[in-house]
Amino acid sequence: MRRLNDEDIAQIRQQANIVDVISSYIPLQQAGSNYKAICPFHDDTNPSLSVNAQKQIFKCFACGVGGNVFTFVKDYEEISFIEAVIKVGQMVGFDLSQFSVDNYKPKIDNQTSRYFRLMDEAQQYIEFTLTNTKDDQVRDFLKDRGLTQSLIKTFQIGYIDPNFPLAKYLNKKGYSYQEIEAVHLATLSDGDYYDVFNSRILFPIKTHDNQVVAYTARSLTDNQTKYINSATSPIYQKANILYNYHNAMERAYKDDSVVVCEGVMDVIAFHKSGHPKSVATLGTALSNQQVQLLKKMNSDIVLGFDGDTAGQQAMLNIGTVLRENRLNVFVYNNNSTDDPDDISQKRSKEALKEMVDKPKHWMEFILEYGSKLYSLTSYNAKKQVVEFVLNHLKLFDKIDQTYFISQLSNLTGFDEQTLGTSLSEMPSKAVKRRVEPIKKSVTTNQLLQSEKQILSYLVDGKKYGQMFKLQLGYLIDPNANDLALLILNLYNVHDTISVADCLNLNLNPIQESVLLEISEDSLYQVPKTEKHLKELMIQVQIADIDNMLKINQSHILKAESSTEKIKLMNEKIELHQRKDKLKMEASDEEI
Ligand SMILES: [Zn+2]
Repeated sequence: MRRLNDEDIAQIRQQANIVDVISSYIPLQQAGSNYKAICPFHDDTNPSLSVNAQKQIFKCFACGVGGNVFTFVKDYEEISFIEAVIKVGQMVGFDLSQFSVDNYKPKIDNQTSRYFRLMDEAQQYIEFTLTNTKDDQVRDFLKDRGLTQSLIKTFQIGYIDPNFPLAKYLNKKGYSYQEIEAVHLATLSDGDYYDVFNSRILFPIKTHDNQVVAYTARSLTDNQTKYINSATSPIYQKANILYNYHNAMERAYKDDSVVVCEGVMDVIAFHKSGHPKSVATLGTALSNQQVQLLKKMNSDIVLGFDGDTAGQQAMLNIGTVLRENRLNVFVYNNNSTDDPDDISQKRSKEALKEMVDKPKHWMEFILEYGSKLYSLTSYNAKKQVVEFVLNHLKLFDKIDQTYFISQLSNLTGFDEQTLGTSLSEMPSKAVKRRVEPIKKSVTTNQLLQSEKQILSYLVDGKKYGQMFKLQLGYLIDPNANDLALLILNLYNVHDTISVADCLNLNLNPIQESVLLEISEDSLYQVPKTEKHLKELMIQVQIADIDNMLKINQSHILKAESSTEKIKLMNEKIELHQRKDKLKMEASDEEI
């Protein structure tokens, strides 16, 4: 196995046709030599997304998203860049047999890797503490909850013993209290640092590639807050993670459905009952990112929340979002108010397994929910049930619709034909994929016009790259400067480059935006000449000197001694001389 390198990525990009790839996701209309589409990244009604086949890039003129073929797949599927590369590679038949996605670890900065190591050390310590604690309360808790040695191992459950504080241990291991606090494992109180999860049973929350980034912590007794979770930290954002996703994903081949439930004890209950492919939302809502994680599992979903009113409501909300995202959703067959853990403990593992193995169809759940919600005692209530049910039914196929219309007819007394007509008259517009644009357009105004022009020269040809390198070699704006250096770097290996390839570089949104602007805006599509580039470079140098003059002026005003002032005045004169000389050069160029 080896990693995909820049050459492989460039090859896949060149083999892929952005028009084919985007049209496999959304319908494209030809418009001249380009293509247009309704933008999937904002609430678009006009086709605002333009796909440029010649340059192999796309851009939305309303919300500002844009990029190359990988950017589109990455943003549309909400996956990582490298996953998008692999996906496109598969589409174009690129031989990926020697690569593995897992082999590719994105580069992480030093601080982040220190946080990861800190979490690894914390994890080892709390597991060790759990096995070695002398506290009877802990043993009783584990026994009462049915947490066997094997489950403790599988879920890497730990404990923070007040006699062996974690934060102090981590500090001795070389991590600062600020770092420990940043990942929410310590809190400052009366000038000292304490464990956030003191005397609690800890369940590690991991990323999809098995890195511990947070904890959910259970109290030993029921008279305190039962669960507390890590707050958002530099390495943890709740919305990006599903509890136990890593384990469940590994078992994807064994089981054809995935159970989605609320908390860690529910996941463990489903695991015990023979459904190890289960994940928890750690709350009663589902983020966009969590939806994308579930989509990637390619499985039917069985919802397994608490049986009480709050749990039913959570299943209605979460199931609705999943249906709108075209996932197959079922609801476990729990007709009691118990939660999954109660069912497995008080009744049996088998009872819980049966509920998942013989789940309710989503529409069965909706019919039940609707009739409970509106009670069906009056004509108005019946009409409300009809509306509620049809709203969900419109996202199903004809067979399902026919079947459930007959059920709805039995329930409400409306005849099937009337219900069928109402259903077909409902606005069939699929529910929006997203409400908010995922990327806001970035302003590139802080860059000088001449800097953007120079960048467009750099992309245009190696000889301009050489000329820039020898005669100027830098740009004032840090984003533009980095971008210029990245482009010059590409010329070390390639004789020609394209904007679509530059977009594979690790660019920030401003840089991406500049690249798209210089390749799309007619302002930059003028014939290029060495003379013009020379003029542009002089303009940048003059602007640079103007900046230095401003700084010089503010220093002069603040100067404390006369010697300092004289030194600064001399500097000022020198800068003016340089500026005049450049102006002369510029007027020579114009002749
Ligand atoms: Zn858009």
